Amino acid sequence: MAINKENYQEIGEFLKQRGVTLVAVSKTKSVQDILELYELGHRDFGENYVQELVEKYESLPKDIRWHFIGHLQSNKVKHIAPFVHLIHGVDRASVLKEITKQAGRFERRLSCLLQVHIAKEDTKFGFSADELPEVLNNIHSSEKVSIQGLMGMATFTEEEQILRSEFSGLKSLFDEYFPEKEDAILSMGMSGDYKVAVEEGSNLVRIGSLLFGSRE
Ligand SMILES: *Cc1c(COP(=O)(O)O)cnc(C)c1O
Repeated sequence: MAINKENYQEIGEFLKQRGVTLVAVSKTKSVQDILELYELGHRDFGENYVQELVEKYESLPKDIRWHFIGHLQSNKVKHIAPFVHLIHGVDRASVLKEITKQAGRFERRLSCLLQVHIAKEDTKFGFSADELPEVLNNIHSSEKVSIQGLMGMATFTEEEQILRSEFSGLKSLFDEYFPEKEDAILSMGMSGDYKVAVEEGSNLVRIGSLLFGSRE
C-alpha cells in the first residue's frame, strides 16, 4: 500500500489555513507507509495499540511525535511513557494515576487529553459531560502530568446534524474548562467527519484511512 499524497496535500491545505494540527493515524499500517509521509515532512503520527506503537517507535526516526489515541490500560502505560508525545484518551482516574507514576519513573512530564463520551454509541470510552466538572476538580495538571485539553469521537454516522451537535457540545466544554489557554488542544475529527469537526472548533484532527487507505 502506498499513501494517498493527493489527499495528504488537500487535507494539509485545508487544515493549515485554519491552524489545525494533523495527526496521521497509522495503526495497522506499515513502517514503509509511515516513512513515506515522514519524507514529505510529516511528524505527528497516531497509534491505538501499545505493542504496535512501541515496535514502530523503535524502528522509525526519533523525531516523530507519537500520539497514543487508543484505549489505554494502566498496566501498559510504562511501555509508552519514555517517548510518547501526547496521550489522547485518558478516561479513568486510575489511568491518570498510573501515568503520574510512570512520569516520575522516567523523569518526564507527560501530556494528556481527557476523553469525553459524546457519541450515542455506548461502545466508545470517555467521561460523560456530567462527570467532567468533578473530574476536572480532582484532576489537575501537576509537575508530572500536563492536562492539555479534551478529546472526543462522534457517533459513526453521515448525518451532519448529529455530528455537528456532538462536536459543538464538546467545544462548549472545552471553552468552559480550558478558557484562557492558547495552546490547549481539542482533538476531534477523523476521516469521515473532520471538516465538520474543524468547523465546530477542533484544533487537532486524527486522520487515518484518507491518508493510508482503508484498514482490513
Ligand atoms: C482509527 C482512529 C482514527 C482514524 O480513523 P479514520 O476514520 O481512519 O480516519 C481516529 N481516532 C481514533 C481514536 C481512532 O481509533
